Amino acid sequence: MDLSDSVLLVTQATRHSRFARDLTLVHLSKTRVYASGTPSCAVLQVASFLRTNSWIGPDSLNLRLDPHAISRNKAVAKIEFTPGSVIAVAQPLTTALLPVEKEQRCDLCHNRPQHNGRLLKCTGCASHWYCDVQCQGVAWKAHHRKICGSYSRFIASPAYVSLSVQDKMDSLLLSQLCVEIFPSDHLPHRPSPLAIFESLIPSKSPPQQLPPMLVRLNSPDARNRLQDLYSRFGNNNFVLHSHLVSFGHGIYPLASRLFNHSCVPNAAVRYSLMRGRPPSMEVIALRTIAADEEVCIPYVDPALPFGDRERALNIIYGFSCSCPLCHFQRAIAPLLSDRDISPQNRQHLLEFTQCLTHVSHTHQDTLQDFSEIPASLHSLFHPSVLPRLAESFSSKSHGPAPESALHDGLALLALYRLIYPPNYPQIGLHALEAAKTAWNALLSKESRESAYDKQLLELAIWYLGIARHIVGIVGKEGDAGGPLVEIDFLSELINKELSTTA
Ligand SMILES: [Zn+2]
Ligand SMILES: [Zn+2]
Ligand SMILES: [Zn+2]
Repeated sequence: MDLSDSVLLVTQATRHSRFARDLTLVHLSKTRVYASGTPSCAVLQVASFLRTNSWIGPDSLNLRLDPHAISRNKAVAKIEFTPGSVIAVAQPLTTALLPVEKEQRCDLCHNRPQHNGRLLKCTGCASHWYCDVQCQGVAWKAHHRKICGSYSRFIASPAYVSLSVQDKMDSLLLSQLCVEIFPSDHLPHRPSPLAIFESLIPSKSPPQQLPPMLVRLNSPDARNRLQDLYSRFGNNNFVLHSHLVSFGHGIYPLASRLFNHSCVPNAAVRYSLMRGRPPSMEVIALRTIAADEEVCIPYVDPALPFGDRERALNIIYGFSCSCPLCHFQRAIAPLLSDRDISPQNRQHLLEFTQCLTHVSHTHQDTLQDFSEIPASLHSLFHPSVLPRLAESFSSKSHGPAPESALHDGLALLALYRLIYPPNYPQIGLHALEAAKTAWNALLSKESRESAYDKQLLELAIWYLGIARHIVGIVGKEGDAGGPLVEIDFLSELINKELSTTA
């Protein structure tokens, strides 16, 4: 096998390992519509919004709001959605970049500079960066003209510096929102999304005080109104992400209003970054969603330990989840003990989840029944198992002998399939990492043995099939390049290799 001109691929940190850049496993997205209310009024309100507001894509008309036993409403599919189809498009009231992303991305559209180009710096504050004058102009009109003069001083102030990242994001979002709510002169009036945001249910325990802000508010009425809006931040705002790596926070009232949470969601959120406007959110179907079925998204990562998930949903969103995964994990939680996966367990796990590399992959498109999971596999739901496996895979795949990571990579894929619903993005991204690891294992071998080399290639192809299927369903999102491009690139390398050995 001639590997002389082959490429060693850069593997990414596994999300559930300490190597991951983004350690906030919670907040893949967060939104909430729980509480009592008058369903009929709510339906009317959103129905009129859907008719009149151009912020919503036409696909969102294929949803209706029905009453729900615990939450105010549920968004129900009016038609069947196929995997990968866009269920709804939502535009933000406002968004802001995480502190670490400043200067790396445009402050309006959140794109990275193209073709190694540079972003334009705002000469007023020297603290905002844009793709071009178009992005700058849109941001200027929306809010920046009101905060540019005080921005640099504000972010250097002790009051701001001492805040947590979450509070910094809230402070910036609220400041920008403030400018939009109390506009002067020529600003376009955008009442509907704000009205929807104000109709959302506040946090169970809203913050008592406003965060430090960029704009001065003298009127008590204005302060009260902002306090009212701020009380909806914690349980409604979203974390923006590109291929599961977060880069900012944003307020998307329509999505908050429509979608309830499930730990076995049938839909997921992606962000579309287009020049000249803030990122729009797209809610896509992960599997076939039948007409009249509720559409749910995850507010927290379903692979978080059950106790952490339950706490987060309770404290932040004020409800106890009754999804099939929580139901199952609640029942088995008292029986779990911390121990390593035994070889038999590992084999059993691979068989149960059909992660058998010698047979062609079957794509799972229907929801698994957790009650069918045999008791011998229950111990895999202990909170220590997933992080330990992810850590082991990640450190080995980044180490000098990537081959040693393959064993854990396969078990991790199987564990993800056990926990996550069909086509969950994390499964696809992990399959890609495992494919790259198999390829790197091939390249890092000291001697060539054609039978084993062939096995590694076949393994990479097997993983790529899973990655292509799932990443394809999630579709184009976030930053340019990314997994879809990497999958094509690795496929090309493998095909080239196969043609030289044929
Ligand atoms: Zn831009
Ligand atoms: Zn500025
Ligand atoms: Zn749940």
